[in-house]
Amino acid sequence: MAHQDLGSGAAARMAPAGLSKNEIMVWETLAAGDDPLKAYEILDQLKDRGVRAPMTVYRALDGLEGKGHIHKIDGMNAFVLCNHEGPHLVQTFLVCESCSNVKELEMVAVEAGILDAVRKSSFEMNTARLEIKGDCEACAA
Ligand SMILES: [Zn+2]
Ligand SMILES: [Zn+2]
Repeated sequence: MAHQDLGSGAAARMAPAGLSKNEIMVWETLAAGDDPLKAYEILDQLKDRGVRAPMTVYRALDGLEGKGHIHKIDGMNAFVLCNHEGPHLVQTFLVCESCSNVKELEMVAVEAGILDAVRKSSFEMNTARLEIKGDCEACAA
């Protein structure tokens, strides 16, 4: 099964086109580290750049999520950069319960299966997010 590492590649990437100034700052903050960040942690890091209002961060996170550039890890209430090209409805993550490391997986068969089952139920899906919890390679060793 093909999968990509969210961590190492992300820092070298350029912010996507079509973002607001605040969205770019939030994107860059997430790109600078490997770990998922909560909204208040992003705010903390942006204080030096003149961001004071939590709403500024929330709005930028909403915008980035809507455009498919970041994902929310519900179980951690934190955000990570998407490592796929373009928005995708089915999102799959490996979430380490020991060190909070998160890796986004590409699971084509899982995505096709979910979309097919949802379609058969005549349900209009917004997002499906699967958090696979356990220990990452480093923590399991
Ligand atoms: Zn993604
Ligand atoms: Zn770990």
